[in-house]
Amino acid sequence: MPERTESDSRKLLRRLRDTLAEPGEGQERLDRITHLIADSMQTEVCSIYLFRDAETLELCATEGLRKEAVHQTRMRLGEGLVGRVAYTAQPVNTGNAPAEKGFRYMPETGEEIYSSFLGVPIQRLGERLGVLVVQSREARQYSDDEVYALEVVAMVLAEMTELGVFVGEGEAMSARHKQPVLFRGVSGQEGTAEGRVWLHEPRVVVTNPVGDDPKVEMDRLNKAMEDLRLSVDDLLADTEGTPPEHREVLETYRMFAHSKGWVRRMEADIARGLSAEAAVEKEQSSARARMQQVPDAYLRDRLHDLDDISNRLLRLLTGQGRATGAVLPDNPILVARSIGPGELLEYGRALKGVVLEEGSVGSHAAIVARALAIPLVINAERITAEALNGDPILVDGDQGLVHLRPEDSVATAFRDKIAMQAKAQERYASIRELPAQARCGTIVALHMNAGLMADLPSLAGSGAEGVGLFRTELQFLIRNQVPRRGELAALYARVMQAAKGKRVVFRTLDIGSDKVLPYMRRPDEPNPALGWRAIRVGLDKPGVMRMQLQALLRAADGRPLSVMFPFVAEADEFFAARKMMLAEVERERRLGHVLPARIEIGAMLETPSLAFAPDRFFEAADFVSVGGNDLKQFFFAADRENELVRRRYDMLNTSYLAFLEGIVARCAGAGTPLSFCGEDAGRPIEAIALAAVGFRMLSMRPASIGPVKHVLRRVDLDEARGVIEAAKAAGETSARGRLMEWLKGQI
Ligand code: PEP
Ligand code: MG
Repeated sequence: MPERTESDSRKLLRRLRDTLAEPGEGQERLDRITHLIADSMQTEVCSIYLFRDAETLELCATEGLRKEAVHQTRMRLGEGLVGRVAYTAQPVNTGNAPAEKGFRYMPETGEEIYSSFLGVPIQRLGERLGVLVVQSREARQYSDDEVYALEVVAMVLAEMTELGVFVGEGEAMSARHKQPVLFRGVSGQEGTAEGRVWLHEPRVVVTNPVGDDPKVEMDRLNKAMEDLRLSVDDLLADTEGTPPEHREVLETYRMFAHSKGWVRRMEADIARGLSAEAAVEKEQSSARARMQQVPDAYLRDRLHDLDDISNRLLRLLTGQGRATGAVLPDNPILVARSIGPGELLEYGRALKGVVLEEGSVGSHAAIVARALAIPLVINAERITAEALNGDPILVDGDQGLVHLRPEDSVATAFRDKIAMQAKAQERYASIRELPAQARCGTIVALHMNAGLMADLPSLAGSGAEGVGLFRTELQFLIRNQVPRRGELAALYARVMQAAKGKRVVFRTLDIGSDKVLPYMRRPDEPNPALGWRAIRVGLDKPGVMRMQLQALLRAADGRPLSVMFPFVAEADEFFAARKMMLAEVERERRLGHVLPARIEIGAMLETPSLAFAPDRFFEAADFVSVGGNDLKQFFFAADRENELVRRRYDMLNTSYLAFLEGIVARCAGAGTPLSFCGEDAGRPIEAIALAAVGFRMLSMRPASIGPVKHVLRRVDLDEARGVIEAAKAAGETSARGRLMEWLKGQI
């Protein structure tokens, strides 16, 4: 085979493009392409294998192998040399194919006479589409140049596959993005939804992978690179006061924007005949393929950054922005790699569900989705590569499953599940005005957790008696700077008005740990959950907390006011915070402002230490609210953010229940009202256990109030307590087994 030159390569790409522009069915086109490549590269064989499903490759066209084998020969991912190319997303180049490890001879193809083999992946943005192979009789290795040329051809094929050029008969050739796909992610917010995909960042579509004039394409690339550098510099100039991680990402962007190696590779792609945007995508595809193989999280993040900056470059080159003119479909389900809390709030309740590739349960987006009560699945890997705007999609936030383009049978079963949930909702609505009174006569007050003005309508809808926890972080998280006192006072006033006299417990700013303000300088902490957070920040840097307390006092405007401090670990922290509050009350009095009719100052018990505080703490606190999410994390020393351990320990663990009983006893001894406001309060069996050990007030997501009230009204709490005691007496680790068994007879 003669040496291949860049102009040979360009000629081949142009012939390829012209061939693809001719009318014809998918199969005809593939046949023409294999013929063309074999002819142009002067090899005896050229074959295209495409994925039939996620695990199987199918020979879809060939020049040189037996035609009868087309659509008959299949191999599993990783099987044989073709399977190896697909699996590793790396070329295989050998002069002696039969001697290669893993070689599998396919007798129906007649390939035994060919010694040399070169296979390259057909992939687009890390998504494997198939394998392109050339073979020849002569036993020789292909040159680096030939490997490169074939990779460029594969890139064009990938773009064409994406555009649906090969649609035709045969399942492996049917348009991609047509098949059902199931994603197993992690539940970020419970609930189910059926709707249509709305991509937060629609993919850039490259319609002309082949460039006519390399000079023109180089100029386009250089101009776009220049714009990219300027835009990154602008971003960097604007980072005053942003946290170090943001700067770090931007610095990485800058590094890539100035990377000679990156530009050189893209220029080489262009010289081979690709258009500027196809060259960007080719390098992006290899980066994505590498990303999937890199075990080191730091390096993976850097490759992610390269991916982001490639997208910016593509948008500059194609002029395709986020606004594509597409209209939000009915029942939109947002699909994104990740999304900021502000952007998610902008969509608001218009969304029926959210699916993210990244994210953690405690991420800001998850906090917002929870506040909006929108089903959320996180860690749905690769969904942005698979989903297209408007695709039908089912989100199961309970199990963390997402069905993209579901089969009819799956959709029907899913709808049955939604209908059952709707029926249950009707049942809950019928008891909305009734108290959560257990069969033994004990009444448990059910309150709701909130964090947005938009949550307040749920107060009436859910039958909650009040807001047991109003998280005030969101207003801080979604802005670029600290909100002003006036803005906060206006919001808090509207919340109180909307509560129509029902009690609202405002929790002062709980930042740090998982909740990081984008504009606040924060020390690099080795372990933020145990670090400078919540009241610790409020006491050490009192400016913001003071401003917030003033806003609350103004907002009350003569109404009763309830405030609680998060994450109090020792009595003195509570006393210091209370002193600050009282000083602000005094200041308001001096300024002649109306004071709240009554002020309650409470503490959140979120660290085991506070359960052992001196009596004077329990006597001084107007109320105590157990923040079970944090308390459980610290009781079991199991990070609530860490998927590996966060579900490891059961709230119904008998040691934990005994510990909670101790808290109930301390509060009862001091006559201090006690509530529980962690997520566990919203789970029916957990709620029964909490009530059984003595909690008389639970605060939860509004959607949980119905189910919790329903079960509480059907059980006898004395019996439940007996069941827990029996589990303890038997030395069992968890009371769950016995409680479940006992509940079966009750409901
Ligand atoms: C908790 O820790 O249980 C709690 C209610 O607070 P957050 O989840 O906001 O930390
Ligand atoms: Mg907490």
